[in-house]
Amino acid sequence: MDTRLHLTGLTRGELERFAEESGEPPYRGRQLFAALQRRRLRSFDEMTDLPKALRGALAARAAASTLTVESRYVAADGTRRYLMKTHDGLPVETVFIPEERRDTVCFSSQSGCPLQCSFCLTAKLGLLRTLTAGEMVEQIIVALNDAYGVGAETPRGTNLVAMGAGEPFLAYDPLMKALGIMADKEGLFIVPNRVTVSTAGVVPKIKELATVAARPHLAISLAAPDDELRDELMPINKRWPLGELLAACKEFEQSLKPGERFTFEYVMLDGVNDADAHARRLANLLNRHQLRAKVNLIPHNPADPLPYRPSPEERVEAFKAILESRGVHAFVRRPRGRDIYAACGQLAARRVDAGPTLHQLS
Ligand code: SAH
Repeated sequence: MDTRLHLTGLTRGELERFAEESGEPPYRGRQLFAALQRRRLRSFDEMTDLPKALRGALAARAAASTLTVESRYVAADGTRRYLMKTHDGLPVETVFIPEERRDTVCFSSQSGCPLQCSFCLTAKLGLLRTLTAGEMVEQIIVALNDAYGVGAETPRGTNLVAMGAGEPFLAYDPLMKALGIMADKEGLFIVPNRVTVSTAGVVPKIKELATVAARPHLAISLAAPDDELRDELMPINKRWPLGELLAACKEFEQSLKPGERFTFEYVMLDGVNDADAHARRLANLLNRHQLRAKVNLIPHNPADPLPYRPSPEERVEAFKAILESRGVHAFVRRPRGRDIYAACGQLAARRVDAGPTLHQLS
């Protein structure tokens, strides 16, 4: 167990104060911030612009990285999954999704997840613990370094999604801190406008986010158009049922600028939530609450022992057509990285047999 201070989780201002407390001038703090965040260095040894004695002193009481990459899996479609371990031995997973126009990094907010959604493999782990801001930022650094090279500039379009393991709104404080650190123009410079946070429906935090000025985009996982089915699929619905959830969504929507939208995600489970009647009920529900959010339809990503199959393509298209005929904008999400357990709902620290797609990172 490592008790050293993880510097990747400190803001530029905090690093300046850290430098001063260590008897160094504040510019050393800014230099450290640039080394950690802009140059994405994960060890003091690489920070050759710092005096050697200082690097030694830093290493004795602080850490430039705390995650260890255990495996890196590459899917047939180019999606990469990193299986990492925290200093206290817990799994952390991050996914890099290359796309034609821009790339996306999907990061985890917790190790495991407490929410018990019946269709999600991460639920099987239970909650191991909430990750720190530094552990969230470091996941992105690992993925960017692997994709673009250490120190190389991040393409301006790269997006982040907090859609890995865990419930980001049960990790609200460290998440918001991580987003603040990543937005710094002297660091990663990934502004909130390029980040999407997905929640299973933690109502108080949806309301809180509505009051934040520089905030990420929001996605809400719905999975069902009525309380009876949603109680079954997503037990969090018993705590915050659809009426309360959609009222909070409305409040959030009212805080958006004209033209901005948030998103609902709807996992499509064959024979469970994908009938015409479900589509009609979903459209009615959103129209009744006067929500103009769009709906992303996600075909279920199967994984043993989950008792579901993905809805057939024609079913997904028919469901989408019903939503659109009732004025609800709907999009079908293509699954990415299913073959290496990197797709939505498949993150459960699975090891894939070593094959031609497995590469080890040091
Ligand atoms: N806990 C947050 C963040 C996870 S995002 C949330 O629930 O929003 C992961 C997304 O994948 C969620 O929209 C979830 O509903 C969806 N999902 C979970 N398991 C899935 C699976 N097996 N196949 C497809 N989508 C799944």
